[in-house]
Amino acid sequence: MKYVGAHVSAQGGVENAPLNAMEIGAKAFALFTKNQRQWKAKPLTQESIDAFKKNLKLADIKPEHVLPHDSYLINLGHPEQEALQKSRDAFVDEMERCMQLGLPLLNFHPGSHLKKISEDESLARVAESINIALETTSGVTAVIETTAGQGTNLGYSFEHLGTIIEQIDDKSRVGVCIDTCHIFTAGYDLRTTEACDETFSQFDEIVGFNYLLGMHLNDSKPDLGARVDRHQSLGAGKIGWTAFEYIMQDARFDDIPLVLETIDPSIWKDEILALYQFAA
Ligand SMILES: [Zn+2]
Ligand SMILES: [Zn+2]
Repeated sequence: MKYVGAHVSAQGGVENAPLNAMEIGAKAFALFTKNQRQWKAKPLTQESIDAFKKNLKLADIKPEHVLPHDSYLINLGHPEQEALQKSRDAFVDEMERCMQLGLPLLNFHPGSHLKKISEDESLARVAESINIALETTSGVTAVIETTAGQGTNLGYSFEHLGTIIEQIDDKSRVGVCIDTCHIFTAGYDLRTTEACDETFSQFDEIVGFNYLLGMHLNDSKPDLGARVDRHQSLGAGKIGWTAFEYIMQDARFDDIPLVLETIDPSIWKDEILALYQFAA
């Protein structure tokens, strides 16, 4: 089964997210459980938590098909100790919010080395950050996202993800999220069936489909290998529909949240419908 949705708004409270998902015919969704541009957030109230769980049932969406995304400020590979600690604390807080909401996944970008330490040193810090978070929490899996490799961002190669996972103590609680726009602008071609075969077989070899716990389905404004993160509506970018048809027809992408982060929320409903038609 395929579970498609979008990164919906949680404005007015997390409990609104499942309702926003239901409105666009989604069977999966992503959300921020706090303001993604701020460090601090008020704790979730019991009322909000209860309403979220009730609305999730109402929308007929399973907790494992929800892919919460952490704050953009967090850098788990930060080269400086004080800033690293701030990120680690914030990440644990994000995990705790997921636990409270009964959500088993937390999606995040690995981090940035900021040109102050090597990629490998920064990747080791990311792994250590994840290990610390997994030790202090329970029931939530850390889902590392592929990135476009803009600036000094880590995660633009499957090897980066493999290197992080290798250093995780509890491998049952780590996974990855492939963002189609990010891997494409990082240099992995998806424009033809043959290109998809090649890219996903590389992924399987280096990371492994057993670690794939979610996907972001986005077309890309920049070209292959541009290393710039700019999403586009499906079919309107440099990737094109072939890749999305491929994903919807391939069983390796079954039973995980497939989440749109495309640029026009007013057509999410149509994009979701179009995707489901490929799976039929
Ligand atoms: Zn993404
Ligand atoms: Zn992006």
